[in-house]
Amino acid sequence: DVAILGAGVSGLCMGIQLIEAGIESFAIFEKSQDVGGTWLDNSYPGSGCDVPSHLYSFSFEPNPEWSRAFSPQPEIQRYLRHCAEKYDLFTMIRFGTEIAGARFDEHAGLWHIRTSTGEEITAKALVSGLGQLNRPHVPDLPGLASFEGTSFHSARWDHQHDLAGERVAVIGNGASALQFIPEIAKTAQRVTVFQRSANWVIPRNDRRFSEADKARFRRHPLLVRALRAFIWSMLEIRFLAFLRESWFSRRMTRMATAYLHAQVSDPVLRAKLTPDYPIGCKRILISDDYYQALVRPNVEVVSEPIERVTRDAVMTTDGVARPADTIVFGTGFETTGFLAPLTIEGLGGAKLDAIWRDGAEAYLGVTVAGFPNLFLLYGPNTNLGHNSIIFMIECQVGYAVQCIAELRKRHASWLDVRRDVMDHYNQRLQAALAKTTWTAGCSSWYKTASGKVVNNWSGFTTDYWRRTRHPNWRDYRFVRA
Ligand code: NAP
Repeated sequence: DVAILGAGVSGLCMGIQLIEAGIESFAIFEKSQDVGGTWLDNSYPGSGCDVPSHLYSFSFEPNPEWSRAFSPQPEIQRYLRHCAEKYDLFTMIRFGTEIAGARFDEHAGLWHIRTSTGEEITAKALVSGLGQLNRPHVPDLPGLASFEGTSFHSARWDHQHDLAGERVAVIGNGASALQFIPEIAKTAQRVTVFQRSANWVIPRNDRRFSEADKARFRRHPLLVRALRAFIWSMLEIRFLAFLRESWFSRRMTRMATAYLHAQVSDPVLRAKLTPDYPIGCKRILISDDYYQALVRPNVEVVSEPIERVTRDAVMTTDGVARPADTIVFGTGFETTGFLAPLTIEGLGGAKLDAIWRDGAEAYLGVTVAGFPNLFLLYGPNTNLGHNSIIFMIECQVGYAVQCIAELRKRHASWLDVRRDVMDHYNQRLQAALAKTTWTAGCSSWYKTASGKVVNNWSGFTTDYWRRTRHPNWRDYRFVRA
């Protein structure tokens, strides 16, 4: 009945909630050989989550065993594997299966789904758990092909390659680079960070949970729930920092500036690390050790633009070549294409990538007019700058499961969101986004080349939760094939 793409946080959550709703006829297709999605891919040194662990987990599967306030990647990956095992999902997952495309047959009311090896699967509903950050972006730098050293992307870390004693060039300084730079700087001979734009950084204030803490969490499940609710409400307030010129945004700016001043005493380096755009326009970075790593004697921050890569160095536009044994790309992901490069054909053979040419749009980030029974998880305009994505994913999964259950109840073949409803929703969404700092003057992975914000949700998660809690069936057309 249901085909789910991806066994990451979204895909697993969807599988679990389908089972809970008594819908057991589904399969999850996963191109890798394990569950975890982003937490399987991003195994770089220092990888972890900057959202507190007790919130960055499923609400229905609290974990008293988190070792720290902010969990490292291996622990999150283990947690997701535990969820898959506990809810018996492994038998429902087809590993090593990549989906190439899908076509909706309106007469039969079925999605015909093609794997990359040409196999065809049919399902009534198609759920994408591919999310926003799964295709690494490696810039096409002039001369890169001539580089004779090693190079890899942060989400494809080469664990066989030891960086100890090497001269490492890091390109990019976003949330991923900020986590691995402090780790590699401990053993590399030299780390050169090529920074195109500075980022606002605030402290993480991480701490280890003691055995006594964990015992308390085990004994008092309500305490874990209360802690989760407390963290969620504290983070929820932070949305105010993303409203242009707000008091909260000025407060965050002061906090980040004070942190930079406290950690970096060299005025030249400090100037390089001071962003020239309002806080929140790009993701606010959260770290206890990034600035501390940048002031190490073996680390250099280079803010001149890269001109080219040579056989053994990275050269900047001022003509200086910095020799490198390895280049690590912390250059992020292809984020605005969403389901690309899959070919998704809806009613009348309409292609999703053509419809999304001017920027992806969906209704509540989940359904798209003309693409019946297609449900997107962590789809367009559902990313956050201030709270846990898992919260958003649970809202979307709850919504999609109710839609699938309603189809059964009505003996309908498909449902399709009304175009006027979707268009009206997106007009209001973009108007609300215009009041946020995401539309201020900076480039970020939240926007298309033309500046349309297609990745972020425009408000509080409370508002999103309220809108997705119960689908309004008047927003949909129900059709019997
Ligand atoms: P990112 O935030 O998109 O950062 C990419 C970096 O590469 C930026 O510094 C960018 O510079 C630079 N860059 C891109 N193309 C370049 C080029 N051609 N030349 C020079 N520099 C270039 O990517 P990311 O660090 O992988 O993070 C992506 C997202 O993943 C995060 O925003 C976050 O949502 C998620 N993430 C979350 C966590 C967590 O703890 N929860 C951790 C890691 C990642 P510009 O800024 O100038 O564009």
